[in-house]
Amino acid sequence: MAMALVNLDFAEELKAYGVDTALECFNCGTCAAICPLLFEHFPRKMIRYAHVGAREKILEQAQDLWRCLHCGLCTRTCPRQAGPGELILGLRRFVLAHARRA
Ligand code: SF4
Ligand code: SF4
Repeated sequence: MAMALVNLDFAEELKAYGVDTALECFNCGTCAAICPLLFEHFPRKMIRYAHVGAREKILEQAQDLWRCLHCGLCTRTCPRQAGPGELILGLRRFVLAHARRA
């Protein structure tokens, strides 16, 4: 079952970057529908990557994280309190930490 495809290790790793809601998302798509960017299912796509632990996808598409406008609409409308806006900021910190090591 697709929803069972979660990566507990990556969710744990993300806590160091201020993300503790990575596993709350149930992929409903509300955040992508409300996001003013209307860009490739953003931010749901990134949340999904975090959920399943697709760290290489996040690093490959890292520049997209900097498109976020911090408007907060996604976080306010998320039915699971997954904090998608904060998750995007946490993923930026994750990317920056890994870029510095590169
Ligand atoms: S609105 Fe919340 S639960 Fe729905 S896809 Fe976005 S982060 Fe996940
Ligand atoms: S905070 Fe960022 S990701 Fe969330 S709705 Fe606003 S622009 Fe989109």
